[in-house]
Amino acid sequence: MTEQNGNRAGEIPFRSGYVAIVGRPNVGKSTLLNTLLGEKVAIVSARPQTTRNRITGIKTTARSQVVFLDTPGIHEAHSLMNRRMVDIALRTLHEVDGVLWLVDAHERIRSQDERIAEMLRGVKTAVFAALNKIDLIAKGKLLPLMQRCSELLPDREIVPVSALNGDNLPLLLELIERSLPEGPRYFPGDEVTDQSERFFAAEIVREKVFLLTREEIPYGVAVTIDEFAENTEKNLIVINATIHTERDSHKPILIGKRGAMLKEIGTQARAELEALLGCRIFLELFVRVDKDWSQRPHRLMEMGL
Ligand code: GDP
Ligand code: MG
Repeated sequence: MTEQNGNRAGEIPFRSGYVAIVGRPNVGKSTLLNTLLGEKVAIVSARPQTTRNRITGIKTTARSQVVFLDTPGIHEAHSLMNRRMVDIALRTLHEVDGVLWLVDAHERIRSQDERIAEMLRGVKTAVFAALNKIDLIAKGKLLPLMQRCSELLPDREIVPVSALNGDNLPLLLELIERSLPEGPRYFPGDEVTDQSERFFAAEIVREKVFLLTREEIPYGVAVTIDEFAENTEKNLIVINATIHTERDSHKPILIGKRGAMLKEIGTQARAELEALLGCRIFLELFVRVDKDWSQRPHRLMEMGL
């Protein structure tokens, strides 16, 4: 973190990141999200594809934003699953900021749990295990189960919870929060629609522009998504985005020598989008000088600001 980007003394840094929820069916993933997110739940409409990661909920507090992702390739893992799904799922686990693994304390650990744990052992990301449904079991049964979990997943936090009645969920959320990097509010505080993938694409491009040009373009830019076309058959999304800047002098900086800067912005944004959305992305970027866009209300609306 550079000084420029550092926080003023005394300010608590805002933390944000993507957390994949994994666990075999019926362990309580949906219940946990619903309880965790409460009224602020922002469920993004389910997508038909099974290989795509999707955002299932966003928890925003005054100090953090956790974007929860569903990674079907992992908890629906079985022998017939195609290699590509596993690859996507594994890649996701390395790209996200954290992984939350749910285990059903009320049932014995199954081979599917063990397979998930095995995948997670190879992951460098922060991994948390939640032993769910503790409201259904006797206290004495908890300790051996926690021991079993820590054998399966050594050196990681294991939190016994009840997704149904909320026991220990604040603790779990705090652990997750603390593990996240400092970062922006990726999504508006309390509302997310099924447009979120578009919004997210714009945010990622904007972030790359900022990271790659921040010396030269201190005032930032706006990004609009002009096309967002899904091709389900090919597991591909075509995205055309425009980077808007107010100044003529910014245009050559954004484009770079022989287009090198724009290419780099595109390459980095595409890699991140592919990992997060779990499909191929064709991303085309344009730069437009748009004098005083920030003063025009309809422009702001268009940009979702
Ligand atoms: P998912 O398939 O992992 O999303 O699991 P669900 O969230 O759909 O939960 C499966 C079942 O377990 C539902 O009937 C839930 O009500 C139940 N369940 C989930 N969490 C708990 C819990 O903490 N305690 C109890 N008693 N039941 C739970
Ligand atoms: Mg579910």
